[in-house]
Amino acid sequence: MHYVIIGASAAGISAAETLVRLDPDAVITVVSREKDIAYSRCLVTYYISGQISRDAVFIRSDEQLRASGVRFIAGTEAVGLDTEKRHITLTDASAISYDRLLVASGASPVLPDIKGIKGLGVYTLRTIADADSIIAEMTESKAVTILGDGLVAVTAAMALNKRGMCVSLVGIAPHILAGFLDSRAAGIIQNRMTEAGIRFYLGKSFSEVNRDAGGRLNSVTLSDGTSLEADMAVIAAGVKPELKVFGETAVAVEKGLLVDEFMETSVPGIYAAGDVAQAYDVVRNAPVWNPLWPHAVEQGRCAALNMAGRKVRYSGSTNMNSLNIGGISLVCAGIANSELPDYESFYLSDNNSTYKKLVFRNRKLAGFILLGKTEKSGVLTSLVKHETISPTQKDKLLGGHFSYTALTGPDH
Ligand SMILES: Cc1cc2nc3c(=O)[nH]c(=O)nc-3n(C[C@H](O)[C@H](O)[C@H](O)COP(=O)(O)OP(=O)(O)OC[C@H]3O[C@@H](n4cnc5c(N)ncnc54)[C@H](O)[C@@H]3O)c2cc1C
Repeated sequence: MHYVIIGASAAGISAAETLVRLDPDAVITVVSREKDIAYSRCLVTYYISGQISRDAVFIRSDEQLRASGVRFIAGTEAVGLDTEKRHITLTDASAISYDRLLVASGASPVLPDIKGIKGLGVYTLRTIADADSIIAEMTESKAVTILGDGLVAVTAAMALNKRGMCVSLVGIAPHILAGFLDSRAAGIIQNRMTEAGIRFYLGKSFSEVNRDAGGRLNSVTLSDGTSLEADMAVIAAGVKPELKVFGETAVAVEKGLLVDEFMETSVPGIYAAGDVAQAYDVVRNAPVWNPLWPHAVEQGRCAALNMAGRKVRYSGSTNMNSLNIGGISLVCAGIANSELPDYESFYLSDNNSTYKKLVFRNRKLAGFILLGKTEKSGVLTSLVKHETISPTQKDKLLGGHFSYTALTGPDH
């Protein structure tokens, strides 16, 4: 049996290691476009900030990869896929045949169509190589403008601020982290970032990136005409699933590659996991694109089990995040960022440093935000993912004094 995996990050490594355990006699080949493999993207902003070394970003050492029994082909892209002949083609035109293929190609940054955006001084932030380039360029007191208001933009802003750069954050949304926070929670974090010296220009975008005669970036013009001095710009305006290898292939795609409950795509023998895939979401009860590290790991493992012939259903994911921004800890999951008609929101604590919000829909905890104090987040995440709630349990949750056993035991 020959298993081929495209991508050597969260989903690809998790799948390869699962396959090694399940099918020790199989041949497993992992192809990666990046030269650096098996590192955590979630840690690259900590590397930029100087809080951790470059080595600490890696989740497996070279020795571990060599000893794993997996054949890694790094620094090579899969550029073609023939689903009839069951092979992929690499950049050097060589072909690799597969019995089962896992697409774990992740996501790539979106580069908006803005005049002057391509060129010196403008960076995206997805890979450790991007972080290396940013580190090589950054100098204290330089001005950096970040385009984006999501997780990558916010963590990059904090990292560059820690390095002494003058950071401005420009985002189209009315508040930061709108993908998972409401305006109140986002406001608390934004205040902390403002105290640290970061300036916000929200509800705006870049209209033009301006350069001097030598092509060096010197300012950006915003959509309302404001001009910001900038020696560097970081574009963190979202990511999209990396689907290039599919070309014209007839594989079902919505936002990401659609997979069934066994992580198989619409083409038999081809599986997908991680940021490239759109898999079952337990809160929305539908296939949803949830591009997060723990989901990629779990989906990679589940895909591998099914590739090896075990019939194991994917238990489903949901939007969730656990962060610490400027000393404020935050955990949230499910749907907690909008006021929808059939959702009931309860605010348990709401002051300048702590915020707790529980959102219910029918007999389910649909989502929560814990900010400042994050104890019990594990219990709440489990409830969001798995349990229906009785009126007594709901009262216990709203009372704030609960444990998983008390909530799920026989007499709840
Ligand atoms: C700065 C940053 C901070 C983040 N912080 C968090 C966080 O705090 N929490 C969280 O849950 N998530 C976070 N994420 C998201 C998280 O990193 C992703 O969800 C996760 O990396 C997805 O893993 P993946 O294996 O699906 O894909 P990826 O990590 O994107 O890896 C896919 C790999 O496949 C390679 N590839 C693509 N196409 C091909 C091809 N045709 N041929 C060969 N190789 C190919 C890519 O180059 C890449 O190396 C963060 C992301 C970034 C960028």
